[in-house]
Amino acid sequence: MKVGVLALQGAFARHAAVLADVGVTPIEVKTPEHLSGVDALVMPGGESTTMSMLLDITEMRHPLAERLAGGLPVFGTCAGMILLASSVADGRSDQESLAAIDIDVRRNGYGRQIDSFEADVNVGGEGICDWDLPFHGVFIRAPVVERVGDGVDVLASVDGQPVLCRQGQVMVASFHPELTDDRRLHELFVEAA
Ligand code: GLN
Repeated sequence: MKVGVLALQGAFARHAAVLADVGVTPIEVKTPEHLSGVDALVMPGGESTTMSMLLDITEMRHPLAERLAGGLPVFGTCAGMILLASSVADGRSDQESLAAIDIDVRRNGYGRQIDSFEADVNVGGEGICDWDLPFHGVFIRAPVVERVGDGVDVLASVDGQPVLCRQGQVMVASFHPELTDDRRLHELFVEAA
């Protein structure tokens, strides 16, 4: 399976390395042609305003929206989550979201004083996974999920706030799963894709 990593900006290299570790072929996606060759896509953390602009400059926004509408499995982390959300608070006024998952997020919503932190994330839920140990979540100027639509499953929360959600083929995390040695979330994504 060819799994793309949106490689316009941000933490894409680490995601590609983790994907290779879990046995799939990672492809850096920088153009519409690259996108058309992948079976699934990771949208990394970074800066969502810049990534949103780059999606327009590279003319990838519409092809990506079409692939998402067609059921492309996608895993968005941090800035990737922001780009996939239905609505974004505290974004730039020209920041457009892809509205692929029915959640509302607030950029940098954890506040300045704790804008980076680490926390154990208990991932679970019926038919999702059965992990004995929590996933160590690294949160870097992470978005807060402020609303979750009816069709969205919350796979993990921290202090009552959702941090890992899934709707159909779209999974999003507000933390950076590529920054630890734990491969379980990438495996979960690839297995379901
Ligand atoms: N705060 C960033 C943004 O708004 C996201 C941070 C991250 O991806 N680590 O895009």
